[in-house]
Amino acid sequence: MRPETIAIHGGYDPDPTTRAVAVPIYQTVAYAFDSAEHAAALFNLEAEGHRYSRVSNPTTAVLEQRIAALEGGLEALCVSSGQAALHYAILNLARLGRNIVSVPQLYGTTHTLFAHVLPTMGITVRFADGDHPDAIERLIDEHTSAVYCESVGNPAGNICDIEALAEIAHRHGIPLIVDNTVATPVLLRPIDYGADIVVHSLTKFLGGHGTTLGGVIVDSGKFPWAQHRERFPMFSEPDASYHGLVYTRQFGKAAYIARCRNVHLRTTGAVLPALSTFLLLLGVETVALRMQTHVENARRVAEFLRSDRRVKWVNYAGFADHPSHRLAQKYLGGRACSLITVGICGGFDGSCAFYDALRLIKRLVNLGDTKSLACHPASTTHRQMSAEEQRSAGVTPETIRLSIGIEHPDDIIADLDQALDAAVAASGRTAGGHDGRL
Ligand SMILES: *Cc1c(COP(=O)(O)O)cnc(C)c1O
Repeated sequence: MRPETIAIHGGYDPDPTTRAVAVPIYQTVAYAFDSAEHAAALFNLEAEGHRYSRVSNPTTAVLEQRIAALEGGLEALCVSSGQAALHYAILNLARLGRNIVSVPQLYGTTHTLFAHVLPTMGITVRFADGDHPDAIERLIDEHTSAVYCESVGNPAGNICDIEALAEIAHRHGIPLIVDNTVATPVLLRPIDYGADIVVHSLTKFLGGHGTTLGGVIVDSGKFPWAQHRERFPMFSEPDASYHGLVYTRQFGKAAYIARCRNVHLRTTGAVLPALSTFLLLLGVETVALRMQTHVENARRVAEFLRSDRRVKWVNYAGFADHPSHRLAQKYLGGRACSLITVGICGGFDGSCAFYDALRLIKRLVNLGDTKSLACHPASTTHRQMSAEEQRSAGVTPETIRLSIGIEHPDDIIADLDQALDAAVAASGRTAGGHDGRL
């Protein structure tokens, strides 16, 4: 089935006992066993079924199957946030003494996790000099456990060459992990281009309404863990944390998600609550419809901004002269995502005056809401980075990131227009008059 249909029906047939058509909220911690033998079979992971909601829950299982189907993956695991998803995705395949090779254009908190938190656990992250596949390959060695990228960088807006990165990773016997939050499976399915693991912040476009945090890890089921036993012993050797279970033997192609669930989610518990799952499922039903309007509105807004002399620069991959334009054609079918970054004339002060004057567009740190949103990364999401790290992540002091919502585009543009007027007025006040460039 096609994405529009999967988003509505994937993973669920009317409940066999109640015939409920909407996915029921299974607000329960535990599940009754028939007998001691039944319980033992569940705990041995031999029988299918739920035992405790820190490990799995029937409501959340629907969302897991739905997102796996949307991404063209084998299995998925939902967790409490996007950050938990990418943290688990890495902990599940790397360990003390290993490294990850990553592009530098990352969401700010991901950068913090990679640069400052994973190293305290003995996992280092090597940041490449840009997103070019050669720059990534240079950093891979025999201790590397994965290559990491965002399909569309937040907020840099660069588009990674997933096919080339997957080819390089596989040549070195390691998987490619892709954060597909900004693109969503509606615009791009990284697994179709060779990615092995896809992570999402469900908080953003998939949930889509700015109400609920969530994250998901999707496995393609294609990476041959057993062939790379030396690098990934956790999948092919008896696991002491689960009385000697061998994941590739017990679960075959589904080993990665089974281990992530039964080791990481079970022992550290970043669980997605069933109530959150229900709200996220409602959001996912309309994701294809919403993405279409997000994309169309963003194009209208980007064209307005580019033609306006009060705007210094606009970064939008839909423009033919954007450095990622060729990759946007290949991976996004000529569409561009609804994240736009802009610099306003008057530099940092001009951008701040513009930002402060927005009325309809909300000032906050979030993206992918039905509402149009604006963020000043240098003071918020990317604040923990040095100026140089900010630059390589695509952030300058004047950068404003816009997440274009699904309001009427004329109303979005009217708000931008009045905020640009405010920026011009403010620059007139500080510079003692019109500075010519405006
Ligand atoms: C927001 C975001 C995250 C983190 O997701 P949370 O649900 O907020 O934890 C990770 N990656 C990207 C690209 C994001 O935009």
